Amino acid sequence: MKIQNHVHGEWVDGNGEGTPLVNPVSGEEIARATSDGVDLGRALDHARTVGGPALRAMTYAGRGEMLGKINETLTANRDKYADIALRNSGNTKIDAAIDIDGGTGTLFFYTRLAGKLGDANYLRDSGFERMAKDAAFQGMHIWVPLKGAGIHINAFNFPSWGLWEKAAVSLLAGVPFLAKPATATCLLSYEMIRDVIDAGVVPEGTISLICGGGRDLMDHVTGRDAVAFTGSADTANLLKGNANVIASSVRFNAEADSLNMSLLGPDARPGTAEFDLFVKEVSREMTVKAGQKCTAIRRAFVPAGILDEVAGALEARLAGTVTGDPRNETVRMGPLVNKAQQRSALDGIAQLAEEADVITGGDGFEPVDADPEISSFVPPTLLKCADPMGARAVHEVEVFGPACTVMPYETAEDAVELASRGGGSLAASVFTADDEFANAATLGIAADHGRVLVVDAQVAGSQTGHGIVMPMCTHGGPGRAGGGEELGGARGLRFYHQRTAVQGRLDRLEALAEAGAEVAL
Ligand code: NAP
Repeated sequence: MKIQNHVHGEWVDGNGEGTPLVNPVSGEEIARATSDGVDLGRALDHARTVGGPALRAMTYAGRGEMLGKINETLTANRDKYADIALRNSGNTKIDAAIDIDGGTGTLFFYTRLAGKLGDANYLRDSGFERMAKDAAFQGMHIWVPLKGAGIHINAFNFPSWGLWEKAAVSLLAGVPFLAKPATATCLLSYEMIRDVIDAGVVPEGTISLICGGGRDLMDHVTGRDAVAFTGSADTANLLKGNANVIASSVRFNAEADSLNMSLLGPDARPGTAEFDLFVKEVSREMTVKAGQKCTAIRRAFVPAGILDEVAGALEARLAGTVTGDPRNETVRMGPLVNKAQQRSALDGIAQLAEEADVITGGDGFEPVDADPEISSFVPPTLLKCADPMGARAVHEVEVFGPACTVMPYETAEDAVELASRGGGSLAASVFTADDEFANAATLGIAADHGRVLVVDAQVAGSQTGHGIVMPMCTHGGPGRAGGGEELGGARGLRFYHQRTAVQGRLDRLEALAEAGAEVAL
């Protein structure tokens, strides 16, 4: 099967044989993707000139209804998507749910938000700015949708969630988009977009898709466009550094990799609820999606006196993780997405092992119902590093797989310092029953993290998890994590709007304010 591209209102084949997409358990080829020869300049122009005006003619509430219809279409085809997630990504049922239902859940959230914004087609800040003695002349800030296109470049690990978390915000803002999913897993993105286009629920030019290639995309963007990138820091830097992107001051949001951390409070001794919750969360983060989550816990910091107890508890818990072909009902963890990712994860683990002891994983691992030579498995690998202050790789090498290093800290100040060695991360978590420690740690690490989850026994049943991105809270992180921000409820709309200060007669401004939807961005 050759996956097609959707550009200028048509489904078109790329040239050449394309890049194979494989089943990471059997190694079998399931499709090929190429966008070679596709005119990307024409594709983006069509989005800007046909899709953009159609969307801007709708109100936020109208666009919300459109998101609702997209969601209905996707929900009706869920079984097909789960099958693709199994065959192309090696997902277990839970892994597939995080990706597929994460995507539709985000669409649902933005459908509801649209209802609150109502029948407006621009946004405004609250209040007016007085600038002169004469109160009749004042200023205000409005937010209008960009007149360009969103260019959504995504990583291989979330072909559904990555697609729809960007699409929901872009479409609600009134901005059409061109999606470029990662080639390795683009079959799911393709099927979803094909179903939505076939259902006739979006105006022409609103959604474009290229699968495979797209290496010259940045040469075709303009200052009216907005690039939302998710992937490795290396690719983000390459694309951000494109001469056209720099010269045209193109908006560029980067969601890159990070060495997210979790912190066990000094009060959380073995036997406490917080100790158990921490062990459960770290092992879950290591094994869900076989650790291929940008937010997964890579570094676990624990009080120095209980390092071995924590390592032992994690080792015991990980021993119960059956790893193999997800079609086997007993399997809890699947493979990495392909051989290249397996090689990269094993190389990364080898670098960590120069500074840390390998507690679980290592040689001699046999996946269930799979040939270790052909398949792309990596066993859950827990490492223990006794000297994190003197180590480097544990803070710098992102193993995009089921690996985590547990490390000791002496004082709260040391824990904050170790957290910062990640160079800026997406997510952190703190497990403690001590309110003072919880808030001091949160404030200490916040500047280096986009999100901090604070857990104790009282929120054990309701907390949403270290690695799960919730659409009402911002997603993104400083420094190495890319410096971007996505989602966060209405805040996410900011990226696809221009904020403009309007200065003039107060009664004119009041009329403008009346017609816009007030929102805190
Ligand atoms: P990647 O290799 O950097 O690729 C990301 C995307 O960029 C893919 O769609 C890729 O397309 C595309 N790309 C690569 N070179 C390009 C170029 N020259 N021009 C245009 N597009 C180009 O990352 P990945 O391996 O897919 O994903 C894993 C990484 O993503 C990890 O480091 C992970 O931490 C990070 N990640 C971050 C988040 C977040 O929200 N912060 C979420 C998920 C993953 P091809 O597939 O065709 O190469």
